Amino acid sequence: MAVKGLDIFKLTPKSNCKECGFPTCMAFSMKAATGAVAIEKCPYISEESKEALSEATAPPMKTIKVGAGDAEATLGGETVLFRHEKTLVHKNLFAVELSDAMSDAEVDAACAKLEKINYDRIGEMMFVEVVGVRFAADQDKFVALVKKVADCGKIPMIITVDAEVAKAAVAVAGAKAIIMGATKDNTEAMVEVAKAADAVLGVTADSIEALHDLVEAIEKLGYKNLILNVGEASIKEAYANAIAIRTSAIKGNDRTFGYPSIVFTNKLAPGNINLQIALASAFVLRYGSIIVLEEMDFNAALPLFGLRQNIFTDPQKPMRVEPKVYEFNKPTGTDPVLVTVDFALSYFVVAGEIERSKVPAYLAIPDAGGYSVLTAWAAGKFGSNVIANFIKENNVADLTTSRKLILPGKVAVLQGDLAELLPEWEVVVGPNEAMQIPKFLRDLQA
Ligand code: SF4
Repeated sequence: MAVKGLDIFKLTPKSNCKECGFPTCMAFSMKAATGAVAIEKCPYISEESKEALSEATAPPMKTIKVGAGDAEATLGGETVLFRHEKTLVHKNLFAVELSDAMSDAEVDAACAKLEKINYDRIGEMMFVEVVGVRFAADQDKFVALVKKVADCGKIPMIITVDAEVAKAAVAVAGAKAIIMGATKDNTEAMVEVAKAADAVLGVTADSIEALHDLVEAIEKLGYKNLILNVGEASIKEAYANAIAIRTSAIKGNDRTFGYPSIVFTNKLAPGNINLQIALASAFVLRYGSIIVLEEMDFNAALPLFGLRQNIFTDPQKPMRVEPKVYEFNKPTGTDPVLVTVDFALSYFVVAGEIERSKVPAYLAIPDAGGYSVLTAWAAGKFGSNVIANFIKENNVADLTTSRKLILPGKVAVLQGDLAELLPEWEVVVGPNEAMQIPKFLRDLQA
């Protein structure tokens, strides 16, 4: 290890170093070599050594920032191919595409559709992050459209192979816009535009071999802020390329392919939004970092955003909903209170069945550690004390004049204890299965 002015291997502090936190330089070096700790943590290593070592110990896939301010998002940085190996760290983004060839009315209609897709699912806001604008013919209209996208808080993606047009558009697009982009015919000019604007440069080629060569050429020009187009010629080729690119980066340590990828499903299945949705879901699993569709409405958003949330969350941490009292079917202050756990799947199943019953009701969700009903009960997180404390602390008795508190059937064993802890409530054992809730609530109401 070349270190200016200090042989780090000879320095052995008696206690852990306050800079790097390791007991010896050797311990630090061993960890840094595996990439588990950033080499920058040691302030005594020269800049040139840091650069060389950072490159050698960097993760196989680059982490690329796109967008600015509130719209900023991170792509790439993955270290595994599958979610079951280790958590996938940066979720893919969804995009729709506009063009200066569209009429103002068409653009407005597309924007209005986009604005509607903005909802909370298990604590995460779901919306389309990127809007591509494809250059057709009218440069002024194109640039104005790119500006409109940036002003709306979306990440603009400038789609043109004309470097002059890209230069004009990126000037109004804000920091870290995406320029889609570079081909073998415009490489130097596009790199120059992207470099000057600090934009992310999309790279497109006719084949995977040509894409590899083009990325190498762009890296030689000193630009590594890239995103790779998996191809638009056919679904089969795009899918194979997406897998080959990611596999050679993660398993083959081929850093030339160690970049996020982009998939234009709107080019793979033009005019067929249902096929685009199906393809988008396949590319959520197989390595699309940005997935472009013709449009996004709730038919597309609900399955795609739900799938993405499942894939890009830590499998070790259960998805949880916020512990609180939820209302269903417009309760009027005289309606019963059901109880279940904060495990998202339990919540959604129970909530769906209460909605289906059309019976007004409250649903009390205490903090049960994010486990399912029986697991939470076995772990001591969904006992009578937890439920009773939640009902008291949240003043549930003030929300409704009904004193019926409905327990999940699987924890019927809590009925006696809970009745003692909440003497003003009638603790009722509910059904074992959520699907029985509608009949149970209707019978209770009768
Ligand atoms: Fe050694 Fe650098 Fe860590 Fe200090 S900060 S113990 S010099 S590796």
